[in-house]
Amino acid sequence: MPDARLPTIAVLATGGTIAGAQAESASHAYRAGALAVGHLLDAVPGLGQLAHIQAEQVASVGSQNMSHAVWADLAQRIDALCSDPSIDGIVVTHGTDTLEETAYFLSLVIRQDKPLVLVGAMRPATAPGADGPANLYHAVALAGCAAARGRGPLVVMNEDIHYAREVQKIACAGINAFASPNRGRAGVMRSAQACFFSRNDTVHGRASVFTLQALQAAGWPRVEVVHAGVGLGADLIDFLSSRARGIVLAGVGDGNATNAALQALQRAAADGVAVVRASRTGSGRVGRNIEVDDDAAGFIAGGELSPQKARILLMLGLALTQDPAELQGFFDRY
Ligand code: GLU
Repeated sequence: MPDARLPTIAVLATGGTIAGAQAESASHAYRAGALAVGHLLDAVPGLGQLAHIQAEQVASVGSQNMSHAVWADLAQRIDALCSDPSIDGIVVTHGTDTLEETAYFLSLVIRQDKPLVLVGAMRPATAPGADGPANLYHAVALAGCAAARGRGPLVVMNEDIHYAREVQKIACAGINAFASPNRGRAGVMRSAQACFFSRNDTVHGRASVFTLQALQAAGWPRVEVVHAGVGLGADLIDFLSSRARGIVLAGVGDGNATNAALQALQRAAADGVAVVRASRTGSGRVGRNIEVDDDAAGFIAGGELSPQKARILLMLGLALTQDPAELQGFFDRY
């Protein structure tokens, strides 16, 4: 007889290292997304005392291959589950490489309040000391927690809770690979208990103006990132400006680049390409008109968003407007 006091949590699996299998446990090599969702759930001790689980396999990819098509499927499924009164919360298992991008995307297009938690693992499921089972335990507990409502998608890794807008993968190996460099962690998990340190006061969820439908109708506007460094020339930017609707500069320091690159970006902006200046440094806030004259060049300052998140916001923004001033408004608020 099911325990009626327990929440019902939908677990949507997409692949990643959390579902990764090695040929043998001492091997460095493994295949991400090799194991099905049932296998992941069976490996978590005590899960049945936390929640009733309803599991679905949405995709089986390493998240380097996450795609617009899977994002659309995921967003539609999450939206339906949010409207289903029999579901209390949702967990998405995901590869760690692009987990922050999916979380941020969902924070802008899922206009609902139900707890939504994304989780991954740095070690394959077959490795000694696999971190997936503990992370999944925390994710299910968090998704069943009333305090998680209305905060937008949360990411739980290594006992830390992060807001979707803030979280970044900051290391390519090791279980402590996620941080929220600008505003800090949202909170921590202590066993099955969530403890929040802060509110999420940036725009997300119900307050977002963005929709999957508008994005699809606009054909997922193409936005590319150009990574700045010593000697960056104009040719790559000139090439992109005839192909992309938006360019994000992963600039040095405060979103800066060589004169040649900035002049090429100014030409792109004059041709109607939306140009966002972000920083390659990993934290801080890129503001308008500090070293670069954004007003004269027609640029948008990327604020606190990493280049990879600026790319997502610009894509969603371009589905609604091409006007740099309106796009700047999104970067000021989201
Ligand atoms: N590249 C794979 C992915 O993102 C493995 C990395 C991971 O999940 O930790 O799915």
